[in-house]
Amino acid sequence: MNKNRDFDNYLKEYPDENGYFGKYGGNYLDNPALVEAFKEFAEGYNTIAQSAQFIAELRRIRKEFQGRPTPLYHCQRLSNLLGRTQIYLKREDLNHTGAHKLNHCMGQGLLAKYMGKKKLIAETGAGQHGVALATAAAYFGLECDIYMGEVDIAKQAPNVTRMKLLGARVIPVTAGLKTLKEAVDAAFEAYSREYKDAIYCIGTAAGPHPFPLMVRDFQQIVGEEARSQFIEMTGHLPDKVVACVGGGSNSIGMFVPFLADPVDIYGVEPLGRGPKMGDNAASVTYGTEGVMHGFNSIMLADENGNPAPVYSNASGLDYPAVGPEHANLHDMGRINYVTVGDEEAVEALFMLSRYEGIIPAIESSHALAYAIREAREKNKPQSIVVNLSGRGDKDLDFVVENYGYGDKYLK
Ligand SMILES: *Cc1c(COP(=O)(O)O)cnc(C)c1O
Repeated sequence: MNKNRDFDNYLKEYPDENGYFGKYGGNYLDNPALVEAFKEFAEGYNTIAQSAQFIAELRRIRKEFQGRPTPLYHCQRLSNLLGRTQIYLKREDLNHTGAHKLNHCMGQGLLAKYMGKKKLIAETGAGQHGVALATAAAYFGLECDIYMGEVDIAKQAPNVTRMKLLGARVIPVTAGLKTLKEAVDAAFEAYSREYKDAIYCIGTAAGPHPFPLMVRDFQQIVGEEARSQFIEMTGHLPDKVVACVGGGSNSIGMFVPFLADPVDIYGVEPLGRGPKMGDNAASVTYGTEGVMHGFNSIMLADENGNPAPVYSNASGLDYPAVGPEHANLHDMGRINYVTVGDEEAVEALFMLSRYEGIIPAIESSHALAYAIREAREKNKPQSIVVNLSGRGDKDLDFVVENYGYGDKYLK
């Protein structure tokens, strides 16, 4: 067990005023307009978002619009099936729009309103971030420009429809491979032109300072609720806390409130088809230190330092880097980073569906799969809280087409 008294002052020490978590983080943008824009944004965040009025308004929105607190749920049938481990789920799938992403999008939307901005700008890959942000824009009466590669637009038709229904403009990006990387460049470009009237909203706890800090702060509600709900339910702390790691937002929000506790923490990265470069997106497990998208962290890069191709059957997890705070907590030895592949994740999806009546997102299924593996390997009484980051509706067609109804996994 870690000596977690070392983490009593963690939040005061990390990040420093330049946005560094140890050696990771910072702001490595070289476009002067963007440097200016991010400075203004960081100042806005540091003053406005800490005010009592902002905090009270966000709290009200979370309760009345998002449906928070989300429940903590004890999986009794699944736990009984597996043995002596008790598995609990933090139900972020029941957050409005069906995933944790709205937690930081509503925070960013409220900040835009307080800063007097008229528009939210972002890129999206699979479209989940775009839908959450378009939802926030509709709620706050802001314009919303979502940059999306043409290839992704064709692949993600339901999410494109949702964004348009919510009033967002979906702007096709036709450069290069026409996917997420080009969309990121286009969104940054638009922000550098429009930052007087707009804010850029990132989809995870990564990017240049202050995004990793801001997204962590807005996501922390997940771990705070889970921690007090678990104590209320059982009278003690859980033994283990688990979440999946793409860029790292649902996991950092879940983990930070447990850092100073004697609790083992596991970040689950997607192993995809296997350990070979290009077959997974396990950035912490297989990556190296480098700078990408304006921040320093651990990442999967090619020999020129450019983002390497990555793969996972969970489109929300196939990001070639990880937020800088994860890189630092990895180096500090506080969080264990482990991997789960495509098949093991899908087995967990089928098990939760059949045994508990909950169809999880494939992303979240990676976290659940690790808890199931722990339960099978260690036949001792222990409790594990899994962050169920989202619901599986978006994955149904893909799962059934590729894996059927799971009979092979449910022997
Ligand atoms: C986007 C997404 C993730 C991965 O993003 P993080 O920033 O790592 O949390 C995980 N689960 C779901 C359901 C998502 O939509």
